[in-house]
Formats: sequence, C-alpha cells, structure tokens
Amino acid sequence: MVDVVSMNEFEQKTGGGVPLRRKMTIFEGIPYECGCGETHIFSPSQTRVYCELGGRDYVFLCLNEYVTLVKVKGFSSHKFKSLLSAKLIDPIEDKNRQIDRMSDKESEVEFL
Ligand SMILES: [Zn+2]
Repeated sequence: MVDVVSMNEFEQKTGGGVPLRRKMTIFEGIPYECGCGETHIFSPSQTRVYCELGGRDYVFLCLNEYVTLVKVKGFSSHKFKSLLSAKLIDPIEDKNRQIDRMSDKESEVEFL
C-alpha cells in the first residue's frame, strides 16, 4: 500500500520536478499502485505524467485526481514502485467547490 500524504507534504518531497522530457511509450502496460486505492495500467495516451523528477522518478496523475510518485525498477523489463501519493488539490477548482457549497446552502435557506 502506497503512503498517502497531504498535498503540501507531497510537494515538499517531490520538489524540483520538471515537465516530462522523455518518451514514455516504453512503459506502456506496466501497472502502478495509486493513492486512490486502485492499480492503474500505465498508458502514454491515458496516464497523465504530472512531472519528472530526474533519474527514474515520475509523478503520475490519475483520473481520480491522485498524484503518485513512482520509481522505475529494473532494466530490460521495467516495473513501477509507488513511493508516495496525495490527493491533488487544484487551488482554482477548490475555490469553485467552495462557491458551489455556499450556493447550495443559500438555496436550502430559500427552500425553507
Ligand atoms: Zn488512481
């Protein structure tokens, strides 16, 4: 089970990531354990690579909005080892959600 931490902690530990430079097609079909509780199959067309941390470390972003730090193991056949994960919080989206909640409350008040 991969450790799930807060986004703050995750960013501290994965600081210095750069946009992806390498072609990820060699990793097609390799599963990785994700912080959302599922195991995802890596696919260059479907898996979003959040950033690359140099060497053999990458941060993947899944559809459930979990970022997971994975390390590539092995040489001729690769494997992913998940090290750390966090629920991604997009500051803008988070703000929108709060606004949604507020308008929900308002409409409840009107209803009552
Ligand atoms: Zn996931």
